[in-house]
Amino acid sequence: MNNGSSQSNLRQRVVEAAEAVLERDGSIGPLELLQKMGFLHPAHVEGWRKGNEYYPFLEKWIQVGPEKFRKTLRHFEEWVKGRGLQPIEASYTRRGPAGTEELRVTNDGHPQQEKFYRTHYAPADLSKRKSTSLAAKLNRPPDLVVFIKVGEEGNCSECGAPLLQGDHLLMEKGQPLCLTCADLEQLVFLPSGDMALTRRARKHSPLSAVVVRFNRSRKRYERQGLLVAEQAIAKAEAECTADAPERAAARARAALLRKDEDREFIDALTNKILELFPRCPSAEARDIAEHTGLRSSGRVGRSAAGRKLDDTAVELAVIAHIRHTHTKYDELLMNGVSRLDARAQVRDSIDYVLQDWRA
Ligand SMILES: [Zn+2]
Repeated sequence: MNNGSSQSNLRQRVVEAAEAVLERDGSIGPLELLQKMGFLHPAHVEGWRKGNEYYPFLEKWIQVGPEKFRKTLRHFEEWVKGRGLQPIEASYTRRGPAGTEELRVTNDGHPQQEKFYRTHYAPADLSKRKSTSLAAKLNRPPDLVVFIKVGEEGNCSECGAPLLQGDHLLMEKGQPLCLTCADLEQLVFLPSGDMALTRRARKHSPLSAVVVRFNRSRKRYERQGLLVAEQAIAKAEAECTADAPERAAARARAALLRKDEDREFIDALTNKILELFPRCPSAEARDIAEHTGLRSSGRVGRSAAGRKLDDTAVELAVIAHIRHTHTKYDELLMNGVSRLDARAQVRDSIDYVLQDWRA
């Protein structure tokens, strides 16, 4: 019985992990499942995909006992069958200076095993266009990445040329290469900033690399631009000049539309506040609505859910307004009273105003 319940427990975990990945990515393969289950650390997968020398193959980083591994895959197969998903084959490659390299998951590279790991599953009812673009995504090698040197000076691991701060370099199996040795010297740097220009230059360049620099205070790599062929930039610039007026007009239309939407939202919210709180001064209702509209005009609040005018959300906005303008709350906070204590101290005053406005 114990065995039976731990079995169904594992099945449950597999199903939940698989559903979550499918929802997130639109497809799922064995490697994504194993990562979601915690049997394979994403850092190992990333190192392997980037061609790090410590990861000649990936299998040995899968950390789960053979019995549990087998059961996990069986539950996964059952789930795939039950959901009626369609297989889409991915490829695991990396873009290196010498071209595209195949990556293998298993040590011996057994074709059937490799194919198993490459096979992803997606909903069977995807449109033709969507499944084509999904297959393209699953088969696209990761970008070639060029780093801007920020650390101590070093040397190219092949020709020995000095690599100074600010220089571009490529990491090849954990070793730095100058752009000449990496066969990228013919490319030129296009800084980030103009999205249309970047997109087009990349499309026209037979070879391109993403340029990143490590930001020490933020502890992350930040994209600085692209290395692309010079003629690709020229071509992209010509295209951008040709349709610049159209693109500017499209941007202006989008901004106007947003403004209209914002105004409508604020009007509706003001009315809603006055409906729930008839004795609230209308100028204040307008203030609350504008403040809420402003706050929710960010990325999150633009969603339909974020802008829904349900009573609770409206009441919370009103309470926040009262707290900051009709009580000593802000003053208490400034004097070092903790947020929870300050809230407790002003609760009665807020209730008093709410009652008054409701009546
Ligand atoms: Zn070199």
